Amino acid sequence: MSDCIFCKIVNGDIPSSKVYEDDCVLAFNDINPQAKVHFLVIPKSHIGSVDEINESNSNVVSHIFTTIPKIAKKVGLTNGYRVITNCGQDGCQSVKHLHFHVLGGEQLSEKMA
Ligand code: AMP
Repeated sequence: MSDCIFCKIVNGDIPSSKVYEDDCVLAFNDINPQAKVHFLVIPKSHIGSVDEINESNSNVVSHIFTTIPKIAKKVGLTNGYRVITNCGQDGCQSVKHLHFHVLGGEQLSEKMA
């Protein structure tokens, strides 16, 4: 998607602070961190949100969830972390490219909403 900021990060048109990359997944630090450690994990192929996950693209989502624990270990999240994805307007999704926030590195709030 030419007007998608995360597709531009995948293509290298916008710089990012990468923490992990493979053929189908990219992880990079959030530009506005909400915890000591805050990175985003995205599929390289454009999926708009959780609402667009289906039988034909769910392999990459499965891959993301097997990759997150590996990245978490790599960046030193040994005491747990939180994985969040915002979806659509009510979910306050601001970037319309599926992404999973991984937050940690400190005790997080019990509140999630
Ligand atoms: P959401 O509100 O769930 O859609 O989250 C979008 C996230 O993307 C926010 O936490 C932003 O801080 C983050 N973000 C936006 N632009 C960039 C960027 N260029 N590099 C890294 N993170 C970004």
